[in-house]
Amino acid sequence: MTAKPYPGTPLLASACLIGARCRYDGGGKPRRLLVEMARRGLVLPLCPEQLGGLPTPRPPAELVDGLGEDVLAGRARVLDVLGADRSEAFRRGARETLTRARHHGCRLAVLKERSPSCGVCRLADGREGRGVTAALLAADGFDLISDEDEDLARRLEEFHDADR
Ligand code: SF4
Repeated sequence: MTAKPYPGTPLLASACLIGARCRYDGGGKPRRLLVEMARRGLVLPLCPEQLGGLPTPRPPAELVDGLGEDVLAGRARVLDVLGADRSEAFRRGARETLTRARHHGCRLAVLKERSPSCGVCRLADGREGRGVTAALLAADGFDLISDEDEDLARRLEEFHDADR
């Protein structure tokens, strides 16, 4: 029998995936299984863009001249549709998310795909690559799952079972 992953620790999740209305347009993107897990106290929901100090709603933003890891290294920027440079807010939000997730012992995260912060495999503009927060969590050794992963339900059930 294989060991269950990360017993006793909460699952870090993009807050919009449990229905928090923290997206740039003021909406959420709830996923049923994550909402149920959050009700059972198994999830640490965080929104990096709000933690970085950005308001909700807010103008949508994109990574320019690079991917999430490039923004962290100062080689690329995050610009919103009005042309404002939001790079520092995105870096601050990523650091805050990592600090809080570490504090709670999280090592596994389910993140919203196609986001300049949370994208695991793909950004909002369709390019392949990680968002700013996903890049920082990955560099710290977090196990990242995209909310679009076709194996998501099985992996969440496995995590859920570990705490029964
Ligand atoms: Fe959701 Fe992440 Fe965007 Fe916040 S930054 S709204 S958690 S995708």
